[in-house]
Amino acid sequence: MGMPKDLNHPGVYAEALYQAAMTGDAVVLAHWLADDPEAEKGPFWKWYIHFAERLMDMAPHPENGFAVRDRRTSQPPKIGRNDACPCGSGKKYKQCHLGREDNVAWKLGSPTPVIRAMATSRVIHECSVDVLDSVPREKASPMVLTEMAATYHGHGRIEVALRLLGEVLEGDRDDPFLLWDYWIARRAEWLVEAGREKEGERFLLDEFDHPRKVEPWQVAQKLAAFYIDQGDTENADIWVNTAMEGNANNPFNHYLKGMLLHYVESWDEAVASYERAEELMAGFREEEKMYMVELVSESLSRARNRQSLEDEDDTVEETSAGETGDSTQDHAS
Ligand SMILES: [Zn+2]
Repeated sequence: MGMPKDLNHPGVYAEALYQAAMTGDAVVLAHWLADDPEAEKGPFWKWYIHFAERLMDMAPHPENGFAVRDRRTSQPPKIGRNDACPCGSGKKYKQCHLGREDNVAWKLGSPTPVIRAMATSRVIHECSVDVLDSVPREKASPMVLTEMAATYHGHGRIEVALRLLGEVLEGDRDDPFLLWDYWIARRAEWLVEAGREKEGERFLLDEFDHPRKVEPWQVAQKLAAFYIDQGDTENADIWVNTAMEGNANNPFNHYLKGMLLHYVESWDEAVASYERAEELMAGFREEEKMYMVELVSESLSRARNRQSLEDEDDTVEETSAGETGDSTQDHAS
């Protein structure tokens, strides 16, 4: 017997919804929840089955655009006064939670939007192109469409990815949970990747003139990254400064500034900018930091060693290519 899954934990709840979408079998899911192959013999089996059925009601499936339905196919099991309390305390129900059921884990509530999004994006990323092609787009939310776009991109279907993401970004952007800033950056990167640099540039410039759900400095930052990527240091300089004027405390702005100084071999200033970026990242959450820390520390050590950013016989470019869209340097050079 292992550790029963604690569905009060958002990450575990999301994982459970993901498992529900992938298995489609309440008994398998109930065993997973109980983490016990003998769970059927235990006093809480009917609860595990109830949870499993509820989770399956709510799981995101491709045939309804990964929208989370809530069909409520099962009712919580009845508990007798002398039954084991489903909280798992080992006491009788009447001596434990009878009359005070409201805030216990075994009353499975609806997942929050964040939990749904975590589970849904995981399910989408597991889907094959064929499954994604079959998704009724009119049922899919903007969040689902962006995750589908990213998955298509991962499968090398860049034109489909761009079309989907383009539709979402041209829509009304009323989803408060979507990171619009992030998706604007991806669209520009993918356009460059598809050899449509001019379109990428036009998109960002237009976005800067008419920003929606993003700050102008955030778009300026994307423009700076775009021009650095294109080797256009003059424009990059203009946009780094615009981004910096808008937000002098954003680490990525300092990182981009560092890259520009790095290019012109102003070593000490580049080092100072990278160090500032590292300092400012200290306040970030771990998952946000991960990929940036790597980028910055890599560049910082190169600047300290008076090494240029683009060193042909070095692997640095390869390691950062996927994340920053540096692969586009092929087009630029
Ligand atoms: Zn209890």
